[in-house]
Amino acid sequence: MSADVILKDVNKVYPNGFHAVYDFNIEIEKGEFIVLAGPSGCGKSTTLRMIAGLEEISSGDLIINGKRVNNVAPKDRDIAMVFQNYALYAHMTVYHNMAFSLTIRKVDPVEIHARVMKAAEILGLVPYLNRKPKQLSGGQRQRVACGRAIVRDPVVFLLDEPLSNLDAKLRGSMRKELMQLHERLNATFVYVTHDQIEALTLATRIVVMKDGYVQQIATPKEMFDKPENLFVAGFIGTPPMNMADGTISNDCQYFEHVSGLKLKLTEHQSEILQNYAGKAVKMASRSEYVYIDDASLAKHKDSQFDIHVDYTEFLGAYNLIYGTFGGQDIIAKVYSRDEISADVIRSCFDMEKVHFFDIETTKRIR
Ligand code: ATP
Repeated sequence: MSADVILKDVNKVYPNGFHAVYDFNIEIEKGEFIVLAGPSGCGKSTTLRMIAGLEEISSGDLIINGKRVNNVAPKDRDIAMVFQNYALYAHMTVYHNMAFSLTIRKVDPVEIHARVMKAAEILGLVPYLNRKPKQLSGGQRQRVACGRAIVRDPVVFLLDEPLSNLDAKLRGSMRKELMQLHERLNATFVYVTHDQIEALTLATRIVVMKDGYVQQIATPKEMFDKPENLFVAGFIGTPPMNMADGTISNDCQYFEHVSGLKLKLTEHQSEILQNYAGKAVKMASRSEYVYIDDASLAKHKDSQFDIHVDYTEFLGAYNLIYGTFGGQDIIAKVYSRDEISADVIRSCFDMEKVHFFDIETTKRIR
């Protein structure tokens, strides 16, 4: 088996009876960058802490490198963890912060020196080895925290919101550094964040969680293009997907919006929506796939509508148009360098790109 980390039906029930994680299943391949994402309280840190051994697993199996480790102490699990608050020792130099965990494990000092110097080189920390943490920038401290994990040479790196204490600009550059670090180390990363941009940019696969349940496990592209349910559709992507309420016509040829507007379904949609004839569904469209240009309007004659504009944001390379369509909110992301000023704009959906969701199960219909 080539999977590095396997979680099989893993559950967490806290001593007070709170069920924080339900039946978590995943097989993580060597070298993957898995991002656990979801809103506050969804159970992502609990999951990471169970992998780390900082939190007991209530039921299920955790296998690291082929060995069931449910009852193995954290220090013997072949993992290293990077925390959001860095947890550096203030009185120690950068060098000794990185060396510390090896020193207490009584690793040969020559080996320790070699590993610290290698990590320092990978992280660009060689010039700072004699400094104390307070003499470093936030980004440099974060790198030292990563360095402490790297010297351990673990099978799996566990990172709990490592960038959340940094300002927006530094987060951007640290994201890039983490990506490069992951490539260089060719190790398995499991990373927790509530920030969907971090999830989309860093992950080989994203796990979206809500209320202790896994909602979807997929590559960033799959997650963006084919969200499994309404929650994922609203969580991944900025702006979130536009939602429209309506009914599938009895002949399964149209989506009839609550406003009365009829949008022609594609052949494929007519097929997959057979069981929904005459029933209410939700239609979702990314704002990127709402068009206003003449060529697109000519191409999509059967899915046109008017946006009643509330306001627009000019963002340099594109405009965001915020408004309503048939009384429901809509945002269009329009790649035009011209500023837009109109009260009503003729628009169209790219029906090839829209999704339909079952209202009861909230699942994407396919
Ligand atoms: P955040 O982004 O806010 O850290 P999270 O997704 O990481 O959120 P967890 O820390 O995993 O969430 O917590 C999941 C749920 O378990 C929350 O509802 C939390 O209140 C609850 N919880 C966490 N620790 C305990 C505990 N020791 N006892 C009981 N419930 C707990």
